[in-house]
Amino acid sequence: MDRIVLPGEYLGTIEEYVPGHNVYEINGKIFSNILGRIEINQKHMMINVKPLQEIPYLRIGEVVYGVVQELYNDFALVTIVGIEGIDREIVGGRQDGIIHISKISEKYVDEIGKMFRIGDIVRARVIKSKPSVQLSTAEPNLGVVKALCMKCRHPLIRQDNFLYCERCGRKETRKIANDYGNIKIKVKNKP
Ligand SMILES: [Zn+2]
Repeated sequence: MDRIVLPGEYLGTIEEYVPGHNVYEINGKIFSNILGRIEINQKHMMINVKPLQEIPYLRIGEVVYGVVQELYNDFALVTIVGIEGIDREIVGGRQDGIIHISKISEKYVDEIGKMFRIGDIVRARVIKSKPSVQLSTAEPNLGVVKALCMKCRHPLIRQDNFLYCERCGRKETRKIANDYGNIKIKVKNKP
């Protein structure tokens, strides 16, 4: 099972595997905590997810995918996990970038927590690459493309301008990309 998984992706059950590095368990099910490659220790049947290598460089204007790691008053810290290429196939990697509160939306944002939550997968454009990577989601096709319920970690579905949890009924807000829920993220490793 040599494949690349996204944060929150289902990996198997605790009857099949022992949870190892960069995974978490809910109700006997094991999920990946990061974007990385699955590694199974056959002797102990321990399942780990190994982080991908660093992305060597990013160009201004490129569209990337990232995972929201931390939220501050003025910006979100995002781990960039891939660059969008042909057919939305992502070249995997890893680098940090920030999205300033003024670059989240075309509209004014008063509170960053209404737009992003930790663990969200976002599609963003590189607007600055040095000295640190800065990203923007202020376009209709940019923003959150996948999010999990904050309460029960079930994938949220879109309902008009909100995201909705079918399992617990919770309603959440995000800066939603216009194709939220319709994209299949396919990741390949850098050659
Ligand atoms: Zn829920």
